[in-house]
Amino acid sequence: MVEQQFKARGIANDGVLQSMESVPREEILPKPLREFAYQDSALPIAHDQTISQPYTVAFMCEAVLLTGAEKVLEVGTGSGYAACVLARLAEQVFSIERIPELAAVARRRIAVLDYGNVKVVCGDGTLGLPDEAPFDATVVTAAAPKLPSAYAQQIVDGGQVVIPIGDAQNLQRMCRFIHHGDDFLREDLGGFVFVPLIGDDGW
Ligand code: SAM
Repeated sequence: MVEQQFKARGIANDGVLQSMESVPREEILPKPLREFAYQDSALPIAHDQTISQPYTVAFMCEAVLLTGAEKVLEVGTGSGYAACVLARLAEQVFSIERIPELAAVARRRIAVLDYGNVKVVCGDGTLGLPDEAPFDATVVTAAAPKLPSAYAQQIVDGGQVVIPIGDAQNLQRMCRFIHHGDDFLREDLGGFVFVPLIGDDGW
């Protein structure tokens, strides 16, 4: 997986490659899907949601430029897989999921895998997580029509938000917003496809 799915496509960050190698994706998937754990694709989980393609997780983790000392917000816990990968790259991860059953299952799996620096919260992630803000970085794993204002308000100066933005049904652009004073520098990192970010400041 590391050579063919990541290095060959330009993922170069050693920490990200090691984290992807060490988190057991098969133990996060529902049992019938475990044999497909390292396949190069997104996979279905409950409630019509998906666990992202491994490459997409690696891409977003590299894009968010972590050093290991950060407090990170992940929006869209889903299976909990990306939260585990982020847990190895940051000091603390808060992950928010709007579907209570997914949040509960992810919380259990993350506990079994012993990622004690991940806290899963159930709620509308389009509003961020004001009680835990500010964050050094925010990673959004569902597609939004625009940057939700809460993410801009809840990020430290110099922090960044990595988020797919675009049409709810089609291709979206992966964007990195870097907070500088009163401004956000927006970078376009390429095309991806995600499920929609549903909520007060999403779809
Ligand atoms: N990061 C996940 C993983 O590693 O399995 C994949 C996430 S899946 C592509 C997107 C998730 O975002 C879904 O579980 C969906 O329920 C969740 N979601 C959508 N809108 C949300 C919102 N407003 N707040 C929190 N979660 C949301």
